[in-house]
Amino acid sequence: MSFQVFGIAVSRGVAIGRAVLVASSRVDVAHYFVTPDEVQPEIDRLLRGRDAVVHELATLKEELPDDAPHELAALLDVHLMLLHDEALTGSASQWIVNRHYNAEWALSAQLEVLARQFDEMEDDYLRERKADLEQVVERVLRALAQAQGDAPAPVTPRDFGGEDPLLLVAADIAPADMIQFKRSVFRGFITDIGGKTSHTAIVARSMDIPAVVGTREASRLIMQDDWVIIDGDAGTVIVNPSPIVLEEYRFRQRQSELERARLARLRHTPAVTLDGEQVELHANIEMPADAEAAVAAGATGVGLFRSEFLFMNRDGELPSEDEQFAAYKAAVEAMRGMPVTIRTVDVGADKPLDRLTVNELRHEHVLNPAMGLRAIRWSLAEPSMFRQQLRAIYRASAFGKVRLLIPMVAHLGEVRQIIEAVKKVQQQLTDAGHAYTRVELGVMIEIPAAAVMLPLLLRHVDFVSIGTNDLIQYTLAIDRADEAVAHLYDPWHPAVLQLIAQSIAHARAAGKGVSVCGEMAGDPEFTELLLAMGLRSFSMHPSQIPAVKQRVLRADTQRLSSALPRVLDSDDPKAVAGEELASARSARAVPMH
Ligand code: PEP
Ligand code: MG
Repeated sequence: MSFQVFGIAVSRGVAIGRAVLVASSRVDVAHYFVTPDEVQPEIDRLLRGRDAVVHELATLKEELPDDAPHELAALLDVHLMLLHDEALTGSASQWIVNRHYNAEWALSAQLEVLARQFDEMEDDYLRERKADLEQVVERVLRALAQAQGDAPAPVTPRDFGGEDPLLLVAADIAPADMIQFKRSVFRGFITDIGGKTSHTAIVARSMDIPAVVGTREASRLIMQDDWVIIDGDAGTVIVNPSPIVLEEYRFRQRQSELERARLARLRHTPAVTLDGEQVELHANIEMPADAEAAVAAGATGVGLFRSEFLFMNRDGELPSEDEQFAAYKAAVEAMRGMPVTIRTVDVGADKPLDRLTVNELRHEHVLNPAMGLRAIRWSLAEPSMFRQQLRAIYRASAFGKVRLLIPMVAHLGEVRQIIEAVKKVQQQLTDAGHAYTRVELGVMIEIPAAAVMLPLLLRHVDFVSIGTNDLIQYTLAIDRADEAVAHLYDPWHPAVLQLIAQSIAHARAAGKGVSVCGEMAGDPEFTELLLAMGLRSFSMHPSQIPAVKQRVLRADTQRLSSALPRVLDSDDPKAVAGEELASARSARAVPMH
């Protein structure tokens, strides 16, 4: 039966493929294809993993002390029975035979199928056996990982002909896990949880693959292996589409590929408006390897390197100074002399260091994580960790143009402490004989307090970068990761527009650099508005650069800025901007170079 699920559009385009349901806690399980020759060895590996657990449990049962409660032995029997059930390993083997999934993937795919059957059982006792099944699968996954000699293998694609595209469906995905999917087999994502600027959505967008989040129940309604269409523009998911609908979407998919190819030809065209204003289009990156995509998309620098992703998935261990230095240096060298803005670690809120999803965080009883010890607050609370990061950043400055960006600043006292820490680090580096050059200091404007007192902050820093994602969250008191209030998360809200316009004006008046690096910078819907406000530096995911550049090339900033007061004075800025700013846009064709 065909049906639709509605959610929030977070990453554009159409993806068509088969659903792969993955439990949130198991998203980090290795997902790769085995070749036809590897099918039987992979089944053997799965069965060896199963047998290892059977042996483990049988030994445990034999060695139970006489006075152990008899429920324990009964529980072990249930687990042993599940392990021998064909519905688990037999059917998992079929995923390997039919779909060429690796053993871990096949097992977790089958777990999802069975878990649903348990959920639907009338009998309470039987329904509760789902937890046993999960424990058993967990043990087999662990046995498989141990047999591989280490933790689960990273998610890696291994293409071979004939596979259907795969779309990931999960209740939620932690940002730490999303990062692993960068080069994964999945061609689209659907999650139950999340908002447009939740970090999971941001990483999906950076991968430039269609995604819909905040569907509330997609992971319950969609079945393993269902055919699914993700409409990343409309925020809808069509499950088991009819042949006519499928054909229509295949057509749209081809059209959007053509459009992308057309825009990609703008890569070498400088971003200059019709009235000759030069605009910097920088890239947001999460890992040094992303710098390559930034250069390929025609970025003229990195406006935001979210360094926190280097700190994730490390089982509590933080990256050393040398490790960080190597990562920053790699990004700086990849940008070949173009500026690289490294933001100091911004963990907390919906970006925990380990694999917690938003949902799990909500249950951690941290009442207001977004307002808690995150970003610069955390760095200042851990001075040696902070200085270690600063040293790594400064050392990278010997290899290119590095800028230092501090997240979540709200107090002048914080800026003073940062400047002190920088001085100390410079002295340490000089003493140790490490080379470094001048590094510009910038702060993010993402807390309304920082926007309001910007003239004071500007006395102490070289540049500012407006983080609209958080600025909207804190101005409107809307949790950006909460789908329940996603409809109220409004970049067009007059208060938000006033704060952005004032911040740009203050920075320009002080002769200091100003850019926007939140998601608004990469959304072509806001390009003209931001240009009208005087913005000349945008930072976004590399994949968004061509579409924004096209807008820049068609813009006349003088006409746009004269229309700005009418937008800012209006009760309905979105509607007024639609009329006023669109009329200032040239319909002229953009030259391709
Ligand atoms: C922002 O808040 O706009 C921003 C760019 O930072 P992040 O999305 O990483 O919080
Ligand atoms: Mg932010």
